Amino acid sequence: MNLNQPGTLYIVATPIGNLADMVPRAVTTLHNVSVIACEDTRHSKKLLSQFSIDTPCITYHDYTDQKSVDKILTRLQHSEDVALISDAGTPLISDPGYRLVAQARLRGFHVIPIPGACAATAALSVSGLPTDKFRFLGFLPAKVGQRKKALEELKAVTETLVFYEAPHRILASLNDLIDVFGQDRLAFMAREVSKTFETYLYGTISQIKTQVNNDSNQQRGEIVIIIAGNTDSTYTHSPETESLVALLLKELPITKAASLAAKITGGDKKQLYQVALSLQNK
Ligand code: SAM
Repeated sequence: MNLNQPGTLYIVATPIGNLADMVPRAVTTLHNVSVIACEDTRHSKKLLSQFSIDTPCITYHDYTDQKSVDKILTRLQHSEDVALISDAGTPLISDPGYRLVAQARLRGFHVIPIPGACAATAALSVSGLPTDKFRFLGFLPAKVGQRKKALEELKAVTETLVFYEAPHRILASLNDLIDVFGQDRLAFMAREVSKTFETYLYGTISQIKTQVNNDSNQQRGEIVIIIAGNTDSTYTHSPETESLVALLLKELPITKAASLAAKITGGDKKQLYQVALSLQNK
């Protein structure tokens, strides 16, 4: 142990279903670190035993008390390397780890990713929807009212939208997506990626909903839902957006007001420029 050299925190991706997706560097790293911080030690021990890794495990959640975070930081301070894994895929992507990484960074420790599987990017890569700009939104709110409100705020976004969804909520969410985005938006649903019964549905949101409705298997397993961004040139904006643009126009030239409004709302700069123009001409 070299006490002058702090340890490294490794953020290690693990498979999202298919064990063959475990990358060799993940195996080596998990073998070599002093301790593995896991979301669920019992779950992870099954994976680790497949690769004959018997490194000690501890539990980590972002809601873990500060003492547990401090214990990991102390290990790093004492030259111990620590790995963080989640139940599946890339830690921190709708999974624990943010608090630990943020604090490790603030204290100047090395934090190194061991890249691997991530359901969002795997699904996006085969979606056939634009990938140049996308927005990852994690899980939609479970309650209908909050979910619809969240979707309303995304209605004008021109980037491709990527969500995780629980199988028991998929039909309800598809209904809400139709209500808010209309039935004709292009969409993609990836289910059980890399597993035996993986399926991929591509079409309008309403076509996907019909298939999910007619096949109960589509309401099982793990799901990523991807929605094309707004390409509607007959853009309609909310009163809140209009008030925001009006406010920005009081302080800024029109192009700056439009681009700032686009950054704040996630809307399209050109469309917001048109809003600003019509306000100026009023
Ligand atoms: N950190 C993980 C990652 O990198 O993708 C995601 C963890 S999040 C708690 C779990 C959600 O990811 C699932 O509910 C599902 O929406 C999505 N997911 C995980 N594995 C998947 C798979 N094999 N196929 C489709 N979606 C998956």
